[in-house]
Amino acid sequence: CGIIGYIGPEETGRIVHQGLKNLEYRGYDSAGIALVDDTITLAKTEGQVDELTAPRADGATAGIGHTRWSTHGEPTETNAHPHTDCTGEVAVVHNGIIENYEALKAELSDTHVFESETDTEVIPHFIETQLEDGVSLLSAVQRTTHQLEGSYAIAVTAAGHEGIVVARRDSPLLLGHGDDATYVGSDATAFIEHTNRVTYLESGDIARITPDEVAIYNDGERIERETETLEWDAE
Ligand code: GLU
Repeated sequence: CGIIGYIGPEETGRIVHQGLKNLEYRGYDSAGIALVDDTITLAKTEGQVDELTAPRADGATAGIGHTRWSTHGEPTETNAHPHTDCTGEVAVVHNGIIENYEALKAELSDTHVFESETDTEVIPHFIETQLEDGVSLLSAVQRTTHQLEGSYAIAVTAAGHEGIVVARRDSPLLLGHGDDATYVGSDATAFIEHTNRVTYLESGDIARITPDEVAIYNDGERIERETETLEWDAE
């Protein structure tokens, strides 16, 4: 339902938590946050964002958060996003529906233990299998999206991998550019109090966001997308 991501110098857990509060107006049934540095720190709740204590990870330079409107699996803490792989090193938030998740889950189930009933959980497990080949997080996400049918906006972090990788098909996702930080949102409300300079991603885009750079790819090619300034009446 709602996605927020942050890379920057401020306290990551606090910024992501605030982003989730901003997204509450969309409606949701559960929420969660993942912070990344050498490990992933997770916090999830079945209820309201207020019941979610913003996790602290002092070294965290990137974080992702999600408000869920469940389509597959009850609104429980286990089914709340972010979802992780078996090692707990890959964390994914997802808006949309993976239509072929049952087939992918059947394929992965021999070697992967699934914890949730969501369609989303196939994504971190598939990324894990790709990372085992020693490829970058960007390549692992790229290969994974080729397997997915349906709609998605995803934000992915992995322990020991710098930054956030995002991708979208048929579900909206945009980037926000601060002076020394980059934001990810399913809509601009997620981060509008920090910046109104945004880049809308198009269907099929994958982007790698690090503290130094935003690199956008489509169909394997590095591309540029326009950055625009939103007129926003903060009432
Ligand atoms: N299909 C996913 C789920 O049920 C994502 C739902 C959403 O967009 O919030 O967990």
